[in-house]
Amino acid sequence: MPAAEIDVRLAGIRKTYGDVVAVDRVDLEIPAGEFFTLLGPSGSGKTTTLRLIAGFERPDEGRIELGGADVTNRAPYERDVNTVFQDYALFPHMTVADNVAYGLRVKRVPRAERRRRVEDILKVVRLPDLGDRKPVQLSGGQRQRIALARSLVNTPRVLLLDEPLGALDLKLRQEMQIELKRIQREVSEVGITFVYVTHDQEEALTMSDRLAVFNEGRIEQIGAPAEVYERPATEFVAGFVGVSNVLERDGRKFTVRPEKIRMHFDEAGARELGRIRDVVYVGMFTRYIVELDSGGELTVVRQNLETSSQEALEFRGRRVRLEWRPEHTFEIQRGGGA
Ligand code: ADP
Ligand code: MG
Repeated sequence: MPAAEIDVRLAGIRKTYGDVVAVDRVDLEIPAGEFFTLLGPSGSGKTTTLRLIAGFERPDEGRIELGGADVTNRAPYERDVNTVFQDYALFPHMTVADNVAYGLRVKRVPRAERRRRVEDILKVVRLPDLGDRKPVQLSGGQRQRIALARSLVNTPRVLLLDEPLGALDLKLRQEMQIELKRIQREVSEVGITFVYVTHDQEEALTMSDRLAVFNEGRIEQIGAPAEVYERPATEFVAGFVGVSNVLERDGRKFTVRPEKIRMHFDEAGARELGRIRDVVYVGMFTRYIVELDSGGELTVVRQNLETSSQEALEFRGRRVRLEWRPEHTFEIQRGGGA
């Protein structure tokens, strides 16, 4: 891809705090308009990477480019990015409209244009009538939208979001996931580039065009959601993105996703025989943990199409036969990384 189409480029980025290596030689290229997610467990270096892009931290090594320009040594306000944090950090004494207009005022945008742009962006986040309220008069979800509006109103080249939905309850979070995608598309013709941090694999799979899986300061895999889910490059990725169904047979290690396994209660024509060790009823589906005679265990999910919770729970201890199509397994490279 030509350099101009890459909005964010990290090359060999390393950041340490004393003995802790927070980010270790990270390379990334994010094209303009992409929804890109940094996914990983707590402490894996996601926030540090975001802060490096924003300019709140300086790397020990490596180079950061925004829109093709080297910004490694530029201050945060000299970078065309905006950040949305989990805690929103709205100014409590200002109205919603003044909160949203804040960045425009700092940039000395004339009053009439300011008012117009605030009105427009409040429509985009679907809170057009709340301009006169104070932040305390809003719900958590509304505050989140206002924080977004405030970051989007100057149409930055890149928007950085650090677990922005983390404080919301599940239903609202799922609604906001869809809203965020819509807003990204609506807010500008080119689309703002989103760099989104989450530890929630489902959120990452739902929202991202591509994602990077972080583990201990390193990226283990970069790819589209389906790619990372169906063809995990490492055992860590297989376990973190989805259920860790890794088996070792004949000296090769492979994964098979729980929904790809058929479970039978007879033992004819076996691929793998085993015993149901645990049953977890999840409403729509049930998760069965099966201990295999040849070693290891697999998680199987089954839709609760004709099974009641009582029946499902009674399967515990039953002998079963598991089957899957060969093309639904994916071999994991030994010691493999990105
Ligand atoms: P994540 O956002 O993935 O949870 P972070 O980027 O916040 O991870 O942290 C990565 C590692 O760097 C962790 O071990 C964390 O304790 C450490 N770390 C982050 N910020 C600091 C800091 N300001 N001082 C010391 N250690 C830090
Ligand atoms: Mg973090």
